[in-house]
Amino acid sequence: MDIKTVGIVGAGQMGNGIAHVMALAGYDVVMNDISSEALQDAVSTIERNLDRQVSREKISNAEKSDAMARISTTATLTDLGNTDLIIEAATERETVKQAIFEDLVPHLKPHTILTSNTSSISITRLASRTDRPEKFMGFHFMNPVPVMQLVELIRGIATDAETFAACKTVVEKLGKTAATAEDFPAFIVNRILMPMINEAVYTLYEGVGSVQSIDSSMKLGANHPMGPLELADFIGLDTCLAIMNVLHDGLADTKYRPCPLLTKYVEAGWLGRKSERGFYDYRGDTPVPTR
Ligand code: NAD
Repeated sequence: MDIKTVGIVGAGQMGNGIAHVMALAGYDVVMNDISSEALQDAVSTIERNLDRQVSREKISNAEKSDAMARISTTATLTDLGNTDLIIEAATERETVKQAIFEDLVPHLKPHTILTSNTSSISITRLASRTDRPEKFMGFHFMNPVPVMQLVELIRGIATDAETFAACKTVVEKLGKTAATAEDFPAFIVNRILMPMINEAVYTLYEGVGSVQSIDSSMKLGANHPMGPLELADFIGLDTCLAIMNVLHDGLADTKYRPCPLLTKYVEAGWLGRKSERGFYDYRGDTPVPTR
């Protein structure tokens, strides 16, 4: 199966990163979002990030302009109908993703592969709502996409071997490494990472440590490049909460209950870096802990 064009739904922090690496690898990219502001921001972010790669001599100026020329944007979802591969990277809410696939499916070519960048939602369940569960799988990039080496490939119960092989080839063409995960809540990386982040929030909630002491403890004591609360802000606290809820509901084990303080931050709209406030306040020159 020869994939040439890629449709990306959702132009947030993941969508723009996926568009960036796909265009750089030579794929034509059509990016969609319900927000035209998000589409504009995505294009400027991609340009800025490509410029950084040029200044670090990782890519040439010509590679940058070729990549930019391969990216187009549209506020009309059905414009993605002509692509060979769809990567859905919209907000981590099952109803949002289901509605996207329902609206998109009647406009797709028969061979088009559907994938979701979901961090936690069941691939089998998302696939079952489409006309092509055998051509549906999880294509899970890590954040920031241009930097992180791993892509988790998640097979739904019905995913066929040809679809899996085609997606694996795309990962290889991106110069990244694929890890295969079975379709259970939050797959591999987030199954392990999110309970740690949630526990860090409990540690804060119970007053065991401050934001700063928790983050420095894990950086200096466990050799993590980022503290868990800093990392949560980077991922987005709404995404972290959504993943904990999927683990809690999907595995029916109270050890996955989301920390009430995480819920409170999300209710306040303090979603981390993307809203300029989370466990740190990013509105000044240096991040200031909010607790
Ligand atoms: P984000 O909030 O930065 O972006 C989501 C985008 O989706 C927004 O621009 C929003 O306008 C758009 N959107 C919402 N509904 C839409 C619709 N119906 N049609 C088109 N666009 C729509 O979120 P993000 O961090 O980029 O996460 C996107 C997906 O990637 C989620 O499924 C998340 O779980 C997954 N993911 C996130 C990370 C991370 O670290 N943030 C890592 C891996 C995977």
